[in-house]
Amino acid sequence: MLELRDVRVVFDGFHALDGVDLTVADGELRFLIGPNGAGKTTLIDVITGLTRPAAGRVRFGGYDLVGRKEHQIVRLGVGRTFQTSVVFEELTVLENLDLAACFRKPLWSLAGRRRGVSDAVAEALARTGLEPLAGRSAGVLSHGQRQWLEIGMLLAQRPRLLLLDEPVAGMSKDERDRTGQLLTEIADDHTVIVVEHDMEFLRRHASAVTVLHEGRVLVEGSVEQVSADPRVQEVYLGR
Ligand code: ADP
Repeated sequence: MLELRDVRVVFDGFHALDGVDLTVADGELRFLIGPNGAGKTTLIDVITGLTRPAAGRVRFGGYDLVGRKEHQIVRLGVGRTFQTSVVFEELTVLENLDLAACFRKPLWSLAGRRRGVSDAVAEALARTGLEPLAGRSAGVLSHGQRQWLEIGMLLAQRPRLLLLDEPVAGMSKDERDRTGQLLTEIADDHTVIVVEHDMEFLRRHASAVTVLHEGRVLVEGSVEQVSADPRVQEVYLGR
C-alpha cells in the first residue's frame, strides 16, 4: 500500500529525513513514535505532498507520490489530520461532515444531496459514534467529540490511507479508550498511520510501531519489542 525508499529531506543543510525506508501494508494500523525533532511531521509532510524530498521514492497504491500536489494526493485517497482544528464551530456535526464529503465531489453532484445524507457521511457518523449529536453545533462538542468529528470528516472523504497526528492528545482516559477502539475499527478497511507519544495508549492499542530518531528508522516491531529495545530506551531516557 505505502512504500518509502531512502527518503531524504534537507532543510538548509540539516538532514530532517536521512534515508527513511518504510513499508505499511494494506489495512495496517501503524504507530509512529520518536523524540521531538525525530522527523515524524516531516515524514507525514512528504507523504501528503507538503514537502518535496531531496531524494527517495514514495509509492502509494501503485502511484509515485513525489512531485504530486497536495490536492492530487488527497484525490488518490490520502487523508490527514493536523494539530490545528479544521472543524467549523458554527455548523452542526452533520454539516461539517457534509462539507468534508463535498470537497471530493464535483459541484453538480450537490443537486441530489438535498434528498438526504450521503452514504459516506452516514458511515462516518456511525463509525465515530456521533449519530446522536448530528444536529448539534460543533462548537459545543467536548474535546474528544471534536477529535472524532475530525476523523469523521476524513472518513467522509473516503480515503484509503489516514495519517493522524496525535489524535488522543488532551483526551480523558475514557475518550482515549474509545479512540483506540475507533482506530482499530477504521483499520479494518483502511490503512492508518498514527503519530502518538502516549506510551500507555500505545501499550493498550498499538500492535506495530516504527521508531524514528534523527531522521532515520531506529527500530520497528511490536510495542513490547520496541519498548524493550536498548536503543529506544537510550533515545527516550538517555540511558
Ligand atoms: P517531529 O515531528 O518528529 O518532532 P519534525 O519533522 O517536525 O520532527 O522536524 C524534524 C527536524 O527538522 C527538526 O529538527 C526541525 O527543526 C527540522 N525542520 C522541520 N521543518 C523545517 C523547516 N521547514 N525548515 C527547517 N527545519 C525544519
